[in-house]
Amino acid sequence: MPELPEAETIARGLDGQVRGRRLLAARCLRKGICERKVRYPVGARVASVRRRAKKVLIHFDDGTTLLVSLGMSGQVRPRPAGPLPKHTHLLLTFEGAEFVYVDPRRLGRLAPPREATTMLAPAEEVARWCEERLGPDAVDVGWPAFREALARRRGALKPLLLNQRVVAGIGNIYADEILHRAGIHPRARPADLPEAALRRLHRATRTVLRRAIRANGTTFRDYVTPTGARGDFGKLLAVYGREGERCRRCGAAVERLRWPPGRSTWYCPGCQPEPEEI
Ligand SMILES: [Zn+2]
Repeated sequence: MPELPEAETIARGLDGQVRGRRLLAARCLRKGICERKVRYPVGARVASVRRRAKKVLIHFDDGTTLLVSLGMSGQVRPRPAGPLPKHTHLLLTFEGAEFVYVDPRRLGRLAPPREATTMLAPAEEVARWCEERLGPDAVDVGWPAFREALARRRGALKPLLLNQRVVAGIGNIYADEILHRAGIHPRARPADLPEAALRRLHRATRTVLRRAIRANGTTFRDYVTPTGARGDFGKLLAVYGREGERCRRCGAAVERLRWPPGRSTWYCPGCQPEPEEI
């Protein structure tokens, strides 16, 4: 699933390729997925492409912003030769470059604007929409804001890290990697942790996400960046998806919890002691 590092990689890749170029056409192919009735800013130039949490924001010079939510498996990639890929929701044609927005696991009709995967609106409206739904951005949140975001929350850390209103941009892969790096059990509750542990968690959050961005993210299934590269972070994963394999730090066997509901969590019992022992 795309998380902050993959969204950052996509935003940087697109920025490098379309900044300053005009949008020549936009075609929505899946009703209910993209906002079909909107008038895309054909003729406007791309001012910049940025990221907020797991969302890619294409800012145009007419003051509008196209927000693309990457959802479960969304990608923005160069249009391949031949027929459009299956699950193409949106085709964006810029001067000299064409991109498809595909999301194989996004099915059914979604109600815009809250859950549509794309949203086109004045830049301030998109910014407000993001502020109302997203906590501080996980890669650059400072320590006071990070502590504040967790201090008010009850419950275990893993689901809190996945909650975009607490800190924004982290999903299942990086939550596990961050907790492992910090040496904190996924079921530990922030209210029970000493400040030193929360500081470790804050540092680990920034370090893991920055390293993943440098590696162009993690390749899952057929993820590719807008420049056609693949993410390299997969081989750096410490615990995610490594059940039964040895922890690279302490040698213990990585374990998998079928928790939180509908998810799995990988952790090292050697590096991440049970909450009672902390
Ligand atoms: Zn370990």
